[in-house]
Amino acid sequence: MSFRARLNLFFLLLVVVPLVAVGVVLLRTIDGAERGKVEAALVSEGRAASALLAEQTEEAGAVAADVAEDRTLAQALRERDAAAIRERAGELLAPATDARRIRLVLPARDGRPAVAVEVGSPTALLPASRTLVASGGGALARIQIATIGPRALAVRLRRLTGREVQIRDFPSGRLLAGEDRDTGRLPAPGRVGTTGKGDWTAVVLRQPGFGTARQEVVLLASGTQVRASRSDRFALLGTLALFLVLAALGALVVSRSLQRQVGALLEGARRLGRGEFDEEIPTSGTDELAQLAGAFNAMSQQLRRRIEELGDERERLRSAIRRIGETFAANLDREGLLEIVASAAVDAVRADGGRAVVAAADAREEALAGWSEGLGPLLDAAEQRIVQGHDGFVSDGDLHGLAVPMGSESGIRGFVAVARRGEPFTAADAEVVAYLSGQAAVSLENVGRHEEAEREALTDPLTGLANRRRFDELLRTAVDRAQRDGQPLSLLVIDLDHFKSINDRFGHQTGDAVLREVAWVLRDGVRGLDAPARLGGEEFGVLLPATDAEGALMLAERLRESVQRLRVVTEDGQQISVTTSIGAGTVGGLRATGASLVAVADGALYEAKRSGRNRTVTADESADAG
Ligand code: GH3
Ligand code: MG
Ligand code: MG
Repeated sequence: MSFRARLNLFFLLLVVVPLVAVGVVLLRTIDGAERGKVEAALVSEGRAASALLAEQTEEAGAVAADVAEDRTLAQALRERDAAAIRERAGELLAPATDARRIRLVLPARDGRPAVAVEVGSPTALLPASRTLVASGGGALARIQIATIGPRALAVRLRRLTGREVQIRDFPSGRLLAGEDRDTGRLPAPGRVGTTGKGDWTAVVLRQPGFGTARQEVVLLASGTQVRASRSDRFALLGTLALFLVLAALGALVVSRSLQRQVGALLEGARRLGRGEFDEEIPTSGTDELAQLAGAFNAMSQQLRRRIEELGDERERLRSAIRRIGETFAANLDREGLLEIVASAAVDAVRADGGRAVVAAADAREEALAGWSEGLGPLLDAAEQRIVQGHDGFVSDGDLHGLAVPMGSESGIRGFVAVARRGEPFTAADAEVVAYLSGQAAVSLENVGRHEEAEREALTDPLTGLANRRRFDELLRTAVDRAQRDGQPLSLLVIDLDHFKSINDRFGHQTGDAVLREVAWVLRDGVRGLDAPARLGGEEFGVLLPATDAEGALMLAERLRESVQRLRVVTEDGQQISVTTSIGAGTVGGLRATGASLVAVADGALYEAKRSGRNRTVTADESADAG
């Protein structure tokens, strides 16, 4: 059964049925009141009718008195001459008198039988009686006279009472006047009551008739007279109908509002079912339905929050995956690696901030993630606990910190540390951070190895100076800068004199030692910006940015003299000295190239060798280039 059908049923049970019952009862009641009125009226009308009957009887009595004094009749009575009696009595009927029916009875007397004579209308009624007294005393005859017939009586009674009138014989019930109605049993004489059949109220007046006969006068009120008037009934039924309409309207309004509320709830529940959580069910008032809607909204909010959390979680997972991808890309960059591990750790344990720290060769490198003020000292404290051999958990009131060590057998030392407000970190958090830290350590080790390999690839292993490859890079950079700044650029190409003979006399290893010592001299003798490199064999190059030919010559001479002063002592105590020839080339301006600079310096070196060695020859092409 639908909600609507149930409401309709309620309406029917609570409003329509009682209203109909009230209607019936009220109708009965006003009918009863009407019946009471009619019955009271019938009582008084019965009295009036009785008075009329008495009056009629009295009239008859007056006529009877006149008749009793009639001499001719008296003579005939005395003679007991039935024919003469009948004749005179007939003459005394109307219009001679008002008599309509005359009955004379002579009792049996002196052995003579009783004589009864009756003339006139056999149905005339309401007789008055007189007794004629004989001259010698004793009753001569009894005389009964009626002056009215049933129809005339009925007319008069109807006129008097306004009711329907029946006049009947009793006990035969034969109808003498009035309409023959099938009324069934009538109430007892003198009483007002309803009839046995039909819808009548009646009063019966029983009257003595001629001889032993009796008549009944019946006043009848029909059902329509007994029932409430049409307008009364309309008023009642109209009022009830109005009530019904008002109740129906009220019920409709209530039902609509209930249905609307229930409909909103249903729609809200359906939306929840479809996974739409953003729209709230409208709640009005504080009733149970409103509370139910509130509960729905709370549930929807919870679900929405959970879904958002799941969304966040998914986003975090996505960013973690992205970060892992970035890690692959940034695998060989220490700084990037530290940033990634710091933000991955912060995200993984929902920290407010964190950092990854690693001790590099001479400084400490660190990367921060999701930083917030005031967390630094807490992270320091957490790291300090690790150093002291404890776990890395610290708390300061509402602030909580966690540090895990970052290290490996090959000795990378550092920490990953996180901090947040509110919830303390758990062992599971520590495990996640430790995992990230371990992975980061492995990557950092790889970074170290890579940096080492890179350094080796650019360094001459014997002397530790930049190798030819590195020199070429430096040359390119220096040429670019010189072009940009419009500065001169110089190059010293330094070649050891007769080095072959050193190898020959002292051995290759001693030759190597000499090369190393010369490298130190060069390193010590140049400015910070100037880069000495081993170009190959026993030939070195020193790049001199922003240096003109004059400056190049000065430096070249200083270096040449330093090398000349150098003494390399062999195992057997011999002292070896070595001289150098230096070609100092200088270029400048926009057309300077690396190749041209090397060619210029090489040319100068060739000239130095040719002209006797242990000297510097300069070649300045900076002016030509202009
Ligand atoms: P010059 O004065 O004309 O430059 O004569 P030189 O002997 O120095 O020149 P040459 O080019 O004839 O000989 C260079 C020698 O340097 C040949 C080689 O044995 C030696 N040499 C090159 N590289 C190394 C090295 O790495 N170690 C040692 N010990 N000797 C090297
Ligand atoms: Mg050489
Ligand atoms: Mg040489």
